[in-house]
Amino acid sequence: MNLEFDADTEEMRAMVVAFAQRELAGRGDTARAPFDTAGFRRRWRRAGEQGLVGGAVPADYGGSGLDAVASSAVMEALGYGGEDTGFAFSVAAHLFAALMPVVEFGTEEQKREWLPGLCSGELIAAHGITEPEAGSDALSLRTRAERKGDEYVLHGSKCFTTNAPVADVFVVQAATEPSGGFFGLTAFVVEAGTPGLSVGAPYDKVGLRGSPTADVHFDGCVVPAGRVLGTEGAGATVFSASMKWERVCLFAIYLGAMRRVLESTIAYAKEREQFGSPIGGFQAVGHRIVDMTLRLESARLLLYKAARGLARGDQDEIAPALAKLAVSEAAVQLGLDAVQVRGGLGMVGGEAETFLRDALPARVFSGTSEIQKNNVARALGLGSNRRPNRRR
Ligand SMILES: Cc1cc2nc3c(=O)[nH]c(=O)nc-3n(C[C@H](O)[C@H](O)[C@H](O)COP(=O)(O)OP(=O)(O)OC[C@H]3O[C@@H](n4cnc5c(N)ncnc54)[C@H](O)[C@@H]3O)c2cc1C
Repeated sequence: MNLEFDADTEEMRAMVVAFAQRELAGRGDTARAPFDTAGFRRRWRRAGEQGLVGGAVPADYGGSGLDAVASSAVMEALGYGGEDTGFAFSVAAHLFAALMPVVEFGTEEQKREWLPGLCSGELIAAHGITEPEAGSDALSLRTRAERKGDEYVLHGSKCFTTNAPVADVFVVQAATEPSGGFFGLTAFVVEAGTPGLSVGAPYDKVGLRGSPTADVHFDGCVVPAGRVLGTEGAGATVFSASMKWERVCLFAIYLGAMRRVLESTIAYAKEREQFGSPIGGFQAVGHRIVDMTLRLESARLLLYKAARGLARGDQDEIAPALAKLAVSEAAVQLGLDAVQVRGGLGMVGGEAETFLRDALPARVFSGTSEIQKNNVARALGLGSNRRPNRRR
């Protein structure tokens, strides 16, 4: 598999790395300080000007028309260039979980209405399916959407909604037919400020602290029927398609961040001396760094294999699940190793410690590691007889 990018993609990657180093400096790790909404929006607009927040959206609607391979390459560069993995995560969640559903399932009118502002950096989007009682078992969600004439009335709550505190637009899943399983869900586009929609306080998360997360509540929120994405009952199809983008392209951020942390770990192991020589010369330390390299390189192969498949339009379920699983597990282990190589310094903050905390959520969002294994097992013809479409 040739992993070389064409000249245009290489140029774009260099531009994104330079942009992230210049504009996205800092770890977004504001400890317990209130979330800096104005600063976040300022950086978002700059990222929009660089074409980052709408990269995979067709040029007709304000994006750059990148396929899954080029989108992954850009996300990898973003993760490498800037230490604020949370900000990069917010950009990717907006693009792959909220904008791509509009691209793939929206009407011409919906695309024209929403996508230009969402690509330019003016507007921010969030995607909400997870609820307090419906995480991995996402299809069991309780948010109801009752049809009344030309409108739907939404009642219920979402949790863990990335970008909710700053979002202008929400792509929301609700049950139009309770107990209807795969065909019981419908996706809606709901504007912030719609009466009956409210957002909770930002979470205080272990990692990805540069990405704001909150609950979203719907209390008699009236949404015109023209805001349904796809058709009534197509919500799970919309969701599954967006998860393929997310499980591949979003996770490329972690490849870039792993590369950055690996490089600084190698530099540290060459510079730090104990017993009269650099610690990197001790076999135990050197082998640990080789294992970090091995994990990164093998996860990267799986991710770009999945990206190629996505770009070709493959319906394969295994490749995106394996990519997500490999990258997130590699990231956590690489974070642990990077902290260990730094000894005591690894415990008192810094790049390695921040990365480890940013890596932990990766094993959970977009479907946990266990759920990815379930997905692969099912695709291999193994596993239980539970409803085949309950997948998250
Ligand atoms: C940083 C972050 C950002 C997020 N952003 C969003 C977002 O923007 N929008 C959104 O909708 N959601 C978002 N989520 C929610 C995320 O998708 C869920 O947390 C995830 O799907 C797991 O659901 P849960 O937390 O309820 O865990 P649970 O489903 O309760 O799982 C708990 C544990 O049980 C295991 N488990 C559950 N079922 C099975 C099974 N069948 N087989 C084996 N093991 C199982 C899980 O793997 C896990 O280890 C985000 C989460 C995080 C951490």
